[in-house]
Parts: sequence; C-alpha cells; structure tokens
Amino acid sequence: MSISQDQVVSIHYTLRDEAGEIIDSSPAGEPLAYLHGHGNLVPGLERELAGRSVGDKLTVTLSPADGYGEHDPKLVQQVPRRALKGVGNVRVGMRLSASSGRSDRTVTVTRIAADLVTVDGNHPLAGKKLHFEVEVAGVRAATETELSHGHVHGPDGHDH
Ligand code: ZN
Repeated sequence: MSISQDQVVSIHYTLRDEAGEIIDSSPAGEPLAYLHGHGNLVPGLERELAGRSVGDKLTVTLSPADGYGEHDPKLVQQVPRRALKGVGNVRVGMRLSASSGRSDRTVTVTRIAADLVTVDGNHPLAGKKLHFEVEVAGVRAATETELSHGHVHGPDGHDH
C-alpha cells in the first residue's frame, strides 16, 4: 500500500536544523502516526511522503514556506514588563500563553531590556530550513471516525 489521501501513516523521523542539531524526533520504537492529507504534518513533508511505502527511507530538506512558514515580523511585539505581572520571573526562551481578543496563542520571550519584554508569536521553527530523515513504518486505511475527526486515534484506530 502506498501513501495517499486519507490513510493513516506511521513514520520514524528525525528533524535537524541547519547546524545539524536534532530539534525533534519520534521516540525509539514509537513511530508517529498521522492522517495523510489533512494538514497534520508540515506541507512539504506530506508532499514528499505521498506515494511512498512501508520501509521507504527519505531525506527531505524543506524551505520555511514548506515547513512552519516564514518568520512574520508583525508577530514580534514589545510589551512593558508590568503587562506580564501575572508571570513570575520572566526569562528569555520562556513560552507564554497570550490572549488577544478571542484567540489564544503562544509567544516566546526573545529579549528583555530594562522594562521592555520582546515576545515573538511566530512558531519557534518559522523562518527555518528543516532537514528531515524519515522512514515509513506503517500505512493503513483510516476509520470513518478518524476521517470525520481529521486525526488519528491510536495505532489500531480506537479512540482513547
Ligand atoms: Zn478524534
């Protein structure tokens, strides 16, 4: 069975940045299962996996546009330290949940200078080239429930 729309695919993967540092990987012996064609993986990786079969190994380099998107400078903001008064001990690298209007999003503290804190609402991997090593571990048909939810329900298709 080769990978196409609406199949549940399991992959072992390692993600490295430009410097070759490992950013993320599937735990040993525990491949990541995802529903193909539903935007559950970054777009470039889904595209490269289409048509592959169990046992296939691939190395994929993705531009930011095919990964987590370009870095959007408009999502970088400076806020006065007092605006974060609910947060104790603000540090660079800290992830904060920010509510603006109705939407919640996560921002990362990137700089602290005097009373101004710079927060970045971009995905931490936005603007980065991504290097994936992937091995296809399994391909199966999705269940009706998985398709209606748009995501995978565990290795055997049961909800948990
Ligand atoms: Zn569900």
